[in-house]
Amino acid sequence: PTLVSDLQATLRDVPDFPKPGIVFKDITPMLADPRLFGRVVTAMSAPFRGKHITKVVGVESRGFILGAPIALALEAGFVPARKPGKLPHRSIVERYSLEYGADGVEMHEDAILKDERVLVVDDVLATGGTAEATARLISRLGGDIVGFSFLITLDFLAGAKRLGPDKVTSVLSF
Ligand code: IMP
Repeated sequence: PTLVSDLQATLRDVPDFPKPGIVFKDITPMLADPRLFGRVVTAMSAPFRGKHITKVVGVESRGFILGAPIALALEAGFVPARKPGKLPHRSIVERYSLEYGADGVEMHEDAILKDERVLVVDDVLATGGTAEATARLISRLGGDIVGFSFLITLDFLAGAKRLGPDKVTSVLSF
């Protein structure tokens, strides 16, 4: 069995969550399986080994769960990109519209130093709005976005086009 087939057997589709018409990809059964979780972290880190990543930015909240072990695997620091109002120190914000609703993303103003080499991590790429707003934060702080690593891309929404297709990797796509 491949990683892809094991994930297809493990990830859960939840219809009409969090809103009618959305089919939510639930990754919690994968996180509960330590061997599968480990294989996912290895696969999501692999394309960025040797690329001198200095910071991994994880997007709230499943991007924290995946991003922290990926940061350690790449010997990089971890930076949380959070929903507005959650970070304690001085922060910068970017607003965006989401597949379900409108939102914003914040990062501490000293989280990324000029010319740092940054990888953005999240579980799912849909429209790309969240990742694009996160990339704008990193660019404002002078960081160099090396790439984006997702567990899942929902290709029909063409989110990768907004981010630069050559910069986007994912383990699974639908
Ligand atoms: P985007 O901004 O439209 O690309 O949506 C991506 C964000 O929404 C990510 O932070 C995802 O965690 C979340 N998201 C969108 N669709 C799903 C889904 O089907 N399952 C889990 N998370 C999702």
